[in-house]
Amino acid sequence: MFRRGRAPVYNFSAGPAGLPEPVMVRARDEFLDFEGTGLSILETSHRSAAFSDVVERTESDLRALLGLGEDHAVLFLHGGATLQFLMTALNLAGPDQVTAYVETGHWSRKAVAAAREVRPVEVLADVADNGYAFVPEQAAWKPIPGGAAYLHYTPNETIDGLEFDFIPEADGAALVADMSSTILSRPLAVDRFDLIYAGAQKNLGPAGLTLVIVRRALLERAGSDVPTQLTYRAHADAGSLFNTPPTLTWRMIGLMLAWVREQGGLEEMARRARQRARIVYEAIDGSDGFYTNPVQPRSRSRTNIPFMIGDDSLESRFLAEADGAGLKQLQGHRSKGGLRASLYNALPVAGAEALADFMRDFARRNG
Ligand SMILES: *Cc1c(COP(=O)(O)O)cnc(C)c1O
Repeated sequence: MFRRGRAPVYNFSAGPAGLPEPVMVRARDEFLDFEGTGLSILETSHRSAAFSDVVERTESDLRALLGLGEDHAVLFLHGGATLQFLMTALNLAGPDQVTAYVETGHWSRKAVAAAREVRPVEVLADVADNGYAFVPEQAAWKPIPGGAAYLHYTPNETIDGLEFDFIPEADGAALVADMSSTILSRPLAVDRFDLIYAGAQKNLGPAGLTLVIVRRALLERAGSDVPTQLTYRAHADAGSLFNTPPTLTWRMIGLMLAWVREQGGLEEMARRARQRARIVYEAIDGSDGFYTNPVQPRSRSRTNIPFMIGDDSLESRFLAEADGAGLKQLQGHRSKGGLRASLYNALPVAGAEALADFMRDFARRNG
């Protein structure tokens, strides 16, 4: 969120997302000389003492923020959340063991498709049936099949703008969640989860690493059909340094976590997230139908808000004028069109206010 001259710029990108200005300034300041080493972190060995220190501080800040105990291992892997679609299936389920999924939108559908390539999948509920308008209560799902390895769900659907308002019961199966767009946006009962993964480029930092939080007991589950490099065990044993990581991304995740702690931690992130979401939904709902959001209030995402004007030329004008006003990257996902505001931790509440003011003004001029 930078000021060019006097005008603030607010970034509503769904990912790679905006980063807090103090994090970017700090990263710039240490870019050429990392903590007095005389080297950039980009040029520093991932086996060096300086980088080990980065690794340790990053993990301890993450554990402190989440209240994460030693039952869970923390991994930073490559390949994005997308590779986790496969790794979860390969590591947690045997070759013929059934896995259970809830399809609530674009990303959970991708997770199902990837898992199906390697393991049997049972889809318990599919919100395509209700027009992606809400997340069905668990009582309306098919039951989890007996002997299922795990239940996978996507607490926040980044593209569809749907969010769970409950944590599902896994009935003895492991509980797995793709938290790419919701991690660190509020306090989390981490103990209820067996595996959580999240691509870094939404709430954690720049692209290039994926956070995996996995119950240590599950590290032993991968069968002998799984290549070593694709096992969580191998990455845990290597301290996530199985091969060369993107060192700058790791450092910036560390800066981001320190920033979240300084700002007041997850309670404060949750407070800001509620405020930002309320401001933008009020602008949509108060527009007399000029803007629409298709999701029922109970299932509306606090983070990713798709909205439509329903007229391509007005939406193009909206994007061009918003961009000129410093409100950046409001285009909807290429699969959906329309508009989307992503309101991650780094976006100041003032950014949501600026967007809502712009939306009201635009509707007044074009309604
Ligand atoms: C962004 C996103 C992904 C994809 O992440 P990559 O790191 O690009 O693989 C998967 N799931 C969710 C919920 C996302 O928001």
